[in-house]
Amino acid sequence: MTARKIVYMVLDGISDRPCPQFGGLTPLQAARTPVLDRFAAEGICGIMDTIAPGVRPGSDTAHLSLLGYPPERYYTGRGPLEAEGSGIHMAPGMIGFRCNFATIDRAGRIIDRRAGRIHHTELLSSAIREGVDLTAHDVAFRFESGAGHRAALAFAGEGLGDRVSSNDPKAEGREPPAIVPLTDDPADKRTADVCNDFIRQSRQILLDHPLNLERLEQGLPPANILLLRGAGKMGHFEPFSERYGLSGSVIAAATLISGIGMVVGLEHIPVPGTTGSVDTDLDAKVAAVVRELERKEFVLVNIKGADEAGHDGKAEEKRDFIEAIDAAIEPLGAIEGCLLAICSDHTTPCSIGDHSADPVPVVIRGEGVRADRVQAFDEIACAEGGLNRIRGGDLMPILLDLINKTHKYGA
Ligand code: ZN
Ligand code: ZN
Repeated sequence: MTARKIVYMVLDGISDRPCPQFGGLTPLQAARTPVLDRFAAEGICGIMDTIAPGVRPGSDTAHLSLLGYPPERYYTGRGPLEAEGSGIHMAPGMIGFRCNFATIDRAGRIIDRRAGRIHHTELLSSAIREGVDLTAHDVAFRFESGAGHRAALAFAGEGLGDRVSSNDPKAEGREPPAIVPLTDDPADKRTADVCNDFIRQSRQILLDHPLNLERLEQGLPPANILLLRGAGKMGHFEPFSERYGLSGSVIAAATLISGIGMVVGLEHIPVPGTTGSVDTDLDAKVAAVVRELERKEFVLVNIKGADEAGHDGKAEEKRDFIEAIDAAIEPLGAIEGCLLAICSDHTTPCSIGDHSADPVPVVIRGEGVRADRVQAFDEIACAEGGLNRIRGGDLMPILLDLINKTHKYGA
């Protein structure tokens, strides 16, 4: 028997380094994970440099690599990917940005970079869409609210560059600087000018918006300025279905990850109750994967919470969330004719609070897979597995071969 379908599960930042709290074990080693360990025992394991040894990946570059789109060729900054994930369809050449709603005082200084962690900014966004006019620049724009204080912006027009600075002063008590071109290229100057005009016009709209007047009355910081960053120019991505001959979906709460899936042509399946945090509804996510496999051949699913715990340096919280993941994913083992690939996109050591270049564990389990002797899914045990040490870009070819979708090289 040969499997025909693939579940590609990325446990974001689940990989770690030895933690003193666990007597030198990693959170993944310290966690009780009977399901992951069973998958490891039934499958072939390894460790993986998602980009290359010694390269410290972002989630975005790592996911591109895992999907077989080398980031050195395809990565164009976070902005276009976030924009796509926020519901702005990015055509090649468009310039995308990530935005924050923030609070500025009368003197023009930033007093809250997240506008009191405001939620539900849709009314503000629609006022910006209606009120801002960039036709003098011959530029069209799209603007969409994201989760919480976040939003995404995109420009479409001739001769726009993406090498521009940010107006985020990164610290409170400072005035947001003007956006400036980072090169002498007139295209970058043009984009910087459009950005500054957009910020000026949107600020005027936000200043008088009833929602902000209401927030002031309630003693809440108004969302009266936009901070733009992560500028990038949308590139051309060969559609996943053409590249691999597989229909596919992406299930991810983080807009950056769903955006990556969407730019390569995976269908984004939103799942109510998923948050991209440790309070996410894991059962709902797993149920959505099972449902999706009835109509698609490939499902990319990202579970984010362990990365967050790693960034916060909370080893116990990370271990507990890993145990919650383990309990939730059992139904994936029962799907017939399906390969299950489980890995991480990078290591997020609690001791660092950021990503490191340490390789991540990986397991492939399903029909036709030559099981090795590894009995546990963790950073150390998987290093003795049959996949040995691979790179992120190797995983899709290996999976395609296991479902008999590769072409023979030679006669
Ligand atoms: Zn990540
Ligand atoms: Zn991270």
